[in-house]
Amino acid sequence: MKITAVTAIPVKVDRKLAYGLAGRTALGVDPVSEHAIVRIDTDAGVTGWGEIASCFARRGRLYAKEVREILAPVLIGQDPRRIAFIVQAMDKALDGSEPAKAGLEMALYDLLGKQLGVPVYVLLGGMVRERIPLSRSITFGTPEQMATAAKGFAAEGFGTVKVKVGQSFDIDVAAVAAVRAAVGDKVKVRVDANMAWRTPKEAAQHIKAMASSRPEVIEQPLKPRELDALAELRLMVDVPIMADESVWNPRDAMEVIRRRAVDVINVYVCEAGGLMAATRIFQMAETAGIPCMIGSMPELGLGTAAQIHLGTAMTNLGLDSDACGVVYQQADLLKTPLRIEKGFAYPPDKPGLGVEIDLDAVERHRIAE
Ligand SMILES: [Mg+2]
Repeated sequence: MKITAVTAIPVKVDRKLAYGLAGRTALGVDPVSEHAIVRIDTDAGVTGWGEIASCFARRGRLYAKEVREILAPVLIGQDPRRIAFIVQAMDKALDGSEPAKAGLEMALYDLLGKQLGVPVYVLLGGMVRERIPLSRSITFGTPEQMATAAKGFAAEGFGTVKVKVGQSFDIDVAAVAAVRAAVGDKVKVRVDANMAWRTPKEAAQHIKAMASSRPEVIEQPLKPRELDALAELRLMVDVPIMADESVWNPRDAMEVIRRRAVDVINVYVCEAGGLMAATRIFQMAETAGIPCMIGSMPELGLGTAAQIHLGTAMTNLGLDSDACGVVYQQADLLKTPLRIEKGFAYPPDKPGLGVEIDLDAVERHRIAE
């Protein structure tokens, strides 16, 4: 079997906003997702689909250009079943650009699963759990608005809500308290600072003021490269500290593990550079005794399916995950939606990613390059 064609289509999908919140976090406000849909064709007539996802400054159009100009020529003519070999060849051809490589690798896994007649999670080691418990994020608002959203998400069945902070000391502390009061004791309340705080002392001040609201974990309190500062903060507070922006790829994960910088790692398929690299992070962290969760960009349908397959197969999934990107989007670009119900995501059991792309929807959301 040989790869005959590789295509990347940039798409733009509006975000779905809940409970009147504008979608703002410490990273800014992001009303749209600009991703790219990847298609890999073969001479065997089997086609694989993947998604390039990123909410940061390099987006679908740029990654699609890199696929077209640099990565597609690496893939064409190769046997698509040689996934590790192809990932290595992509790394040799282009430094970084993990989301583009992840989209292509996702399509290879989809293709291989279809060819073998098995779901992607089987290729990743097989089913460890039948469903993935989810967390739902609450973006900036007044503490009252955020509490209303939290109450709504808890009623929808989410076992964890993630409070985005970084508005101001007073608003953040009040928001976390209001959310805790709104959801009671049965729902976990997680705090995500998205790098908002400048020093361990500033972060510790906020975290200690939030302690009575019993946050489950504090996500990315400091700048991504401040690993010594994260390690210091970790010893200053009782609440576990999670790395998100600090860890993209396995090399980053090794660095946070080596420097004992965090208690938990948030792993992304797109930032890791694909399912294989994400699996490597899960396993490194597991060996180091650090639980992981799955983070979101947020992905559309294909990317969310990949997150769910990963979560289904990872023994080291320790916290409720963001493996539900589609709930933040106005369109998933799939013919049949993924099963995301009452706070859980269920893996599709059809071959490959187990979802079917809606080509009409892709065309409607396609953007000019
Ligand atoms: Mg985060």
